[in-house]
Amino acid sequence: MIKALDHLPRPYDDATTLAGRFSDLAPALNARQAQLEASRCLYCYDAPCVNACPSEIDIPSFIRNIHQENLQGAAVKILSANILGGSCARVCPTEVLCQQACVRNNAQECAPVLIGLLQRYAVDNAQFSEHPFQRAAATGKRIAVVGAGPAGLSCAHRLAMHGHEVVIFEAREKAGGLNEYGIAKYKLVEDFAQRELAFLLQIGGIEIRHGQTLGTHLSLIDLHQHYDSVFLAIGLNASRQLGITHENATGILAATDYIRDLRQSDDLSQLPLADRCIVLGAGNTAIDMAVQMARLGARDVNLVYRRGLDEMGATDHEQNIAKANQVRLLTWAQPEEVLLDNQGRVRGMRFARTHLENGRLQSTGETFELAADAIFKAIGQCMDDAALDDPLARTLKRQGDRIEVDEQLRTSVPGVYAGGDCTQLGQDLTVQAVQHGKLAAEAIHAQLMLNVEAA
Ligand code: SF4
Repeated sequence: MIKALDHLPRPYDDATTLAGRFSDLAPALNARQAQLEASRCLYCYDAPCVNACPSEIDIPSFIRNIHQENLQGAAVKILSANILGGSCARVCPTEVLCQQACVRNNAQECAPVLIGLLQRYAVDNAQFSEHPFQRAAATGKRIAVVGAGPAGLSCAHRLAMHGHEVVIFEAREKAGGLNEYGIAKYKLVEDFAQRELAFLLQIGGIEIRHGQTLGTHLSLIDLHQHYDSVFLAIGLNASRQLGITHENATGILAATDYIRDLRQSDDLSQLPLADRCIVLGAGNTAIDMAVQMARLGARDVNLVYRRGLDEMGATDHEQNIAKANQVRLLTWAQPEEVLLDNQGRVRGMRFARTHLENGRLQSTGETFELAADAIFKAIGQCMDDAALDDPLARTLKRQGDRIEVDEQLRTSVPGVYAGGDCTQLGQDLTVQAVQHGKLAAEAIHAQLMLNVEAA
């Protein structure tokens, strides 16, 4: 991937300096801070923070446990609702979820209880002599899970708890999905995703087979034949295209590709540095990309979006992170042409200025150019259709390019469930994917046990 940027220089700073810039964005609470913060919770009846949590964590209860210095109890409460509660505490946009809903986030105080940091404190500091969840008696049922990202892992853990055997098929070398490959390095530092995975697997009954890509090494029709149920958690693996000429020129690539390599790098000083770069997009991936390039030492980082700031998918908090890292946010501009130098490499981009006319985005007729050594596309992901190209997979009902599921995460094919970003339900958030996995596991378990009773 970064081959497309091989011609670029390396960062000016050494590996140690750069590693320091990618340390934890939100340092953890210490014991005293956690106590003080926990004491701010009002333990609301019908707590709005819980209603705003996609994984339905019993927030007042775990905060009360922290206040009573019962960290194990707090962690078990969190993990029983969300087995990836450690990473969600770090990557959740709490400012638009639980903390936005917190009653202390009112006009007078403007200071919600710091639920995310308290959740992290509990999960990080709880000591377990053994895995806190026990497996039920073996059911003899085997379930195939495709994809070892948050949805797949959450589903597998809950199925294993119910006594089923689970085989996870994963295309990549490591499990963890977005937590391992797709989040800014300063949000999930060191090997946290792998440590969390190791903890999750302690439950037993889960086998992960790597190098297994749906559509290449395995097919839905085979899995459906050989397993009692199938859960598809295949994410959205293809990057959307701009549909303009020179889109595949040297120096233009998907932001997700760069972020993946950056996260896997042991020495950030070896990464190609785009001293002047353009990031196209408006979501968290665009912000992650822009901020990371700025932290690697780029002088001029422009994040360009075709609409206004209010319509950006990235929250105000994320936008503020970008601004604090000297990322320039340029709005109302859409890509018109990739500009190349005489060696066919990116030298910039021409944009058309945009505005709304009768509610529709239109070009104003004005254009401008930005110089850049690289352009990163963060304009969204879509389904890799090669994954669902066998006779059974082709019959799955779709909504747009996503797999259609009902509230129990059932697809149109009996025995096949799906969750996470590859489906149309909910927001594209890690915590939502974890919830999908959990709900799908409950639905699969209920159906399989019903079949046993009926037999
Ligand atoms: Fe505590 Fe805020 Fe939740 Fe109320 S809304 S229970 S104060 S965290």
